[in-house]
This record gives sequence, structure tokens and C-alpha cells, in this order.
Amino acid sequence: SGSSPLLDSTEGNGFKGHSMLAPFTAGWHSTDLEPLIIERSEGSYVYDSKGNKYLDTLAGLWCTALGGSEPRLVKAATDQLNKLPFYHSFWNSTAKPPLDLAEELISMFTAKEMGKVLFTNSGSEANDSQVKLVWYYNNALGRPNKKKIIAQSQAYHGSTLISASLSGLPAMHLKFDLPAPFVLHTDCPHYWRFGLPGEAEEEFATRLADNLENLILKEGPETVAAFIAEPVIGAGGVIPPPKTYFEKIQAVLQKYDVLFIADEVITGFGRLGTMFGSDLYNIKPDLVSLAKALSSAYVPIGATLVSPEISDVVHSQSNKIGFFAHGFTYSGHPVSCAVALEALKIYRERNIPAHVKQISPRFQEGIKAFAGSSIIGETRGVGLLLATEFANNKSPNDPFPVEWGVAQIFGAECKKRGMLVKVVGDEIAMSPPLIMSQREVDGLVSIYGEALKATE
Ligand code: PLP
Repeated sequence: SGSSPLLDSTEGNGFKGHSMLAPFTAGWHSTDLEPLIIERSEGSYVYDSKGNKYLDTLAGLWCTALGGSEPRLVKAATDQLNKLPFYHSFWNSTAKPPLDLAEELISMFTAKEMGKVLFTNSGSEANDSQVKLVWYYNNALGRPNKKKIIAQSQAYHGSTLISASLSGLPAMHLKFDLPAPFVLHTDCPHYWRFGLPGEAEEEFATRLADNLENLILKEGPETVAAFIAEPVIGAGGVIPPPKTYFEKIQAVLQKYDVLFIADEVITGFGRLGTMFGSDLYNIKPDLVSLAKALSSAYVPIGATLVSPEISDVVHSQSNKIGFFAHGFTYSGHPVSCAVALEALKIYRERNIPAHVKQISPRFQEGIKAFAGSSIIGETRGVGLLLATEFANNKSPNDPFPVEWGVAQIFGAECKKRGMLVKVVGDEIAMSPPLIMSQREVDGLVSIYGEALKATE
């Protein structure tokens, strides 16, 4: 370490004494560069290299939906590794697991009929692929100017050049010459922060839909191809949509023939108490991005679901405009697909969405019971997804001084008590494994309460 400026861990973008360039590890960690090294997991718990046990309330990175020790997933992986560790899904070849998984995903996603599935290795690649699909589709339809993509401020869609462009987080654009020129951002649907004085939630949703319509009209509807949104913004701060938001947004999109890409990378497979976020909010997407819980994160895999209208065009036009020349070596990796198939089987067999629906009121109401605290601005969430934003005077416009590090203190108090939460800026977020028991939820809520008291 130290031989390359990028790997010089003393500069902040890395861990002290290690050669790894740490993703999303900012310089402000410079007093805390000693990494937490996790060695083992069991159910909803992880163990660090010193033997400490923690309740992992972010489920890794919003992803280990079935916890850290599901033997059926391990067996699915080893069986497939023994049988066929790899064969590609390029040209005219494939393996059985990707074919079966595609079938299963199409049957599982019922908010709107889907026609085909394209496999990727990650959520970022799924979103990149969405943009290429949409462009290919519009080129095939003879609409070469219909290419712009509208995304929401504060949403997170990934880290590749296109998905980072789609993301609405300034830190991901500054210093990277992003967003790409074909990406536009519209309002973040955060009522607490952006609602006007006296404005009802539904009125806020109407205003945002009007703003979206005005943006489309200003750009020219013939230039706007798609709108991308998470059913609930996740990494950008856990922001559930205001009432009537998606209904009003979808009406605008339909009016101007703009496709809807639902980024269900976090909200897919039961997180919100329904199999998909689209089910909960009555979203009828044309394209859907999946990753994370798709394999419960045991192996990397992402997927894009494509509506029959789009897949038919891709299929039927390829003789005319050239085939859809896109894919990755590991698209439809047999081991990833075998594990994902087993994960989907478990979601169905154990009715994970119903389990989440059953335990999430205890989680949401338990944590929201502390929302009266003088240092909490807002606690918000749905299903097993939640964030607390700390603020002075309960006001979105009165943040605590950065150097106070209130959320960081809260995070450290949780850690002391055997619980890991995600800390970003003035917020903490939780997205625990979907297999949490009622008793574990109660334990989580009580540690949250103790840590809050110690922070106040
Ligand atoms: N989309 C959403 C909603 C996400 O939360 C993430 C990751 O956090 C991504 C896309 C990117 O997925 P990946 O990190 O697998 O590339």
C-alpha cells in the first residue's frame, strides 16, 4: 500500500494499513480508518474479527434478506458448482438455471405483465442495461431523439457511469463530470423536507407531478424516453412516496409516452410487506430492475424485467436495426441463478412478504414511538425499511452542526450495544433481514431506545 496515490490508505479513501481502495469510504472517516472486519454470520447477526456479535440492521447493504446462514442457499450453490460452475448465456447457448429463473421471475412479478428477463451481475448493471434497452427500443421504433432519462433527486441507482448519472446524489456527480447530459433530475418526493408550509401531502404530490410534466414539456416529449424511480428511495435516505405520488406521476408519463423503470433493487422480494414495491404502490412499470435480495446477496446477480411490448420490439426489429449487442460474461451465471432460484422458492414457501407484514408494525411503531425526542427531526419508513433523521428543533431546515456528528454518536452507541446501523450525514437507516423474529425486532427497538437516550 502507498505505492499508488489511489491506494494510499492514509489519504482517506482506504483503510489504514490495507491495500484495498474502500468504496464509499470518505475522508471524514480519517479518524476511524480501522475497518470493521466481519468474519462470520448467523441469522440476523454478524461477528467481527474480535468475536463481537452484532445485530445487522442493514442486512449487509440492504440485501441479505434471508440472513447470513441459510443452508438451502449454500446447498444450491455447491450443488451447482459441482454440476456446472459456469457456462455462458451468449449466442445460442445457456444453462438451465437462468432459463428457470427467468420463468420464475416473470411469474412472480404480477403488478404488470413482463415478457423477458435480462441477467446482470448487479443493480448498477441492471440500471445501465435499462437505459440501453430503452434506447435500442426507441431506435427500433424510429424515434432516435427520444433518449433522455428523468430520475429523482436523492435517489440511488448505482455506481457505474450511467447508474451514477441516474442517481440524484451530488457527491456521486461532483468530481466525476456527471451526470451524463441525457440524464435529468426532478424533485425528490420528500414531503417533510420539501413540502411547502400549509401544503397537504396530496397537494405536494400534485405539485411534483406538475413539475415533472413541465420538465417533459420544456425538454420536448419527443426527447424524453423514460423515468426511473425506486418505489421507496432507499440509500438516499429511506423516503416513502407521499400519498397519491405514483398515481399522479404515472398519469403524466402515460400522457407523453414516457416509459417507467421501477428500480426495485431494495424494495423487491418482500421488503415492504408485499412481494414488490410496485404491488404496494400500484406501479405499472415497463421495466424493472432487481438485485440484492434476488439471491439474498449470497452470490452477485441482477436482473432487468422487460415488458412484452419492449421485448417484442427488441426481438422483431433485430433483423432490421442489428441485434441487441449487449451482455456480460456472467449474465445468467449458473451458480448465481441456482442460488436465486432457491431464494425465490424460500420467499414463496415461507411467505416472506406476509411475515414482513406481520412483524413490521412492531418495527415501525416501536421506533416511531421515539420520534418525539428533541433530537429527532423525522423517523420514516415502511415494511422493514426505516430511517431516522436527526435535527435541531424538529425542523428539516435546522441541521445539527456537522462536527457534532449526532448520527455518528447514535451509531456508535448502537454498536456498543451490539447493533450495527447505517450512518450517513444526519441520518441512520435500517433495512434488517426479512427473517427477523418478533423477539429480535423487540430487541432492536430496545437498543435503539437506549442508544437514543445516550445520544440525547
Ligand atoms: N438501485 C438501488 C435502488 C440500490 O439501492 C442499489 C444499491 O444499493 C443499486 C441500484 C445498485 O446496485 P449494485 O450496488 O448491486 O450495483
